Amino acid sequence: MSDYINCFGCGAESLNIEGECHKYMLASPGCWMMFTEIMEREYSDLRYWKGHQFTVDAYACQHVGKKEDKRAVNSVNIHLASLYGVFEQELSISEMPTLRSQFSQYYKGKGILEWLEPPQSFGELTVFELWDNEDADLHYEIAERWAKSVWSSWSHQHKTIAKLVDRTKS
Ligand SMILES: [Zn+2]
Repeated sequence: MSDYINCFGCGAESLNIEGECHKYMLASPGCWMMFTEIMEREYSDLRYWKGHQFTVDAYACQHVGKKEDKRAVNSVNIHLASLYGVFEQELSISEMPTLRSQFSQYYKGKGILEWLEPPQSFGELTVFELWDNEDADLHYEIAERWAKSVWSSWSHQHKTIAKLVDRTKS
């Protein structure tokens, strides 16, 4: 058994371990472990916290889960909406949680949000680059770069997401 495997979700080089994973954002346990370690850093140190919204959106949009799982489908829509807000509508990172909750409230129970066919590749960056960085001052920048590259990788769905977000504002 090799020490490292590529996450079947995002492709990140991750420890080949057994263990917990998220309920519907499907990832290899080693990849999920890197994510939870980053969460610990972000929740315990303000310098890391600044990048938190990018981290959660980027990770969610690289781990799409199963088509049949409504939670997974909703999650990808919500996190892409948030990336749309910050990269296309120039919202600030602090406005991302509000956009997410307004978006999910609007679509709650309506059965409108659909499975979005993911791209062939989710871009060059993964959770690994953020996890591997030990310089707190660089954390925000790497998280933003990762989130931006994930958003670009979903370019074939940008119009769909834009329409979904616009609809919540009319
Ligand atoms: Zn992964």
